[in-house]
Amino acid sequence: MRVTIFGTRSYDRQFLTAANAGHDHELRFLEAGLDRATAPLAAGSDAVCAFVNDCLDAEVIELLAGLGVRIVALRCAGYNNVDLEAAARSGIAVTRVPAYSPHAVAEFTIGLLLALDRKIHRAWSRVRENNYALDGLVGRNLHGRIMGVVGTGQIGALVARTLRAGFGCEVLASDPVPDPELEAIGVHYTSVDSLLREADVISLHCPLTPDTKHMINAATLAQARPGLIVVNTSRGALIDTRALIDALKARSVGGVALDVYEQEAGIFFDDLSSEIIDDDLLQRLLTFPNVLVTGHQAFLTEEALSAIAQTTLGSLSDFEKGSPLAHQILPVGRAGQVLP
Ligand code: NAD
Repeated sequence: MRVTIFGTRSYDRQFLTAANAGHDHELRFLEAGLDRATAPLAAGSDAVCAFVNDCLDAEVIELLAGLGVRIVALRCAGYNNVDLEAAARSGIAVTRVPAYSPHAVAEFTIGLLLALDRKIHRAWSRVRENNYALDGLVGRNLHGRIMGVVGTGQIGALVARTLRAGFGCEVLASDPVPDPELEAIGVHYTSVDSLLREADVISLHCPLTPDTKHMINAATLAQARPGLIVVNTSRGALIDTRALIDALKARSVGGVALDVYEQEAGIFFDDLSSEIIDDDLLQRLLTFPNVLVTGHQAFLTEEALSAIAQTTLGSLSDFEKGSPLAHQILPVGRAGQVLP
């Protein structure tokens, strides 16, 4: 198939090209992200491959359909950026990569938490200037602390298990579908509200939906324990960033580690080190000594990139052959495959 791949970086090109040896699609790599202005660049393609911050609203979907695009293959798990109803109306199939390496994201989550809590990033800056003083670097043990894991799907379950079995934490979890294997190792399920009231650390692993948008907001933060640490490697808009900044300024939140940010589109994945950034919220976040931000890199391991490339190109091959699409996503209430 002729595939236009939006928002590509060196690592996308490397892993998609390697995986294509087993598929033989005609891959066209574009650096530009997908939006209303760039959608026409997909002209002549049967398929579009998109990523987390690409815009696939109704207008973009209709533009793509008008160009003859028949399938959108997301090279990510989340699909909150896609208007699935519009895709179904336009006869465009949408696939994703539901599981590529939950370990990649779970391990990064624990790494972020440790780095923030033990101030490893700050220590490294000091040591590079031959400053070996330890004042201001006092952290806390994870062992024995109360961890709150929101969403115990593939990633959250690994985080909960590692915190419970590896670090010996008390783990509270919230998920509409409790995991009996986690319960068997002593993870206690409770409501998001009571988890927020009781946890020392909260780590977000549920999807972004209209129901979960801004689940961390001024009201929920007001109920939280003083000194709460917030970790988010899921989706930025789970957190109301303004409310989080207010809580940091009030010293009620003790630390924040983010791999995702509400307004990350147009900022993350690019080198803007010589640019003036207009986003005042992100810039304010970066001024706090107890905030650690990374640019949506939790998925970025060789294993994950290889699995993402294989699944994405595999879905396109299945579509081309008319085979069932194992990773198709449909609007709620619809079933079946949109055939080529
Ligand atoms: P998953 O579908 O396996 O698990 C999500 C879990 O959240 C499910 O168990 C679901 O029941 C639960 N859930 C749904 N609504 C909830 C609610 N209101 N409260 C509590 N739990 C709720 O997904 P996953 O593969 O574990 O991915 C989790 C998130 O991580 C996704 O949103 C995805 O976008 C994000 N992600 C981020 C990166 C990154 O690089 N930072 C990479 C991959 C995935």
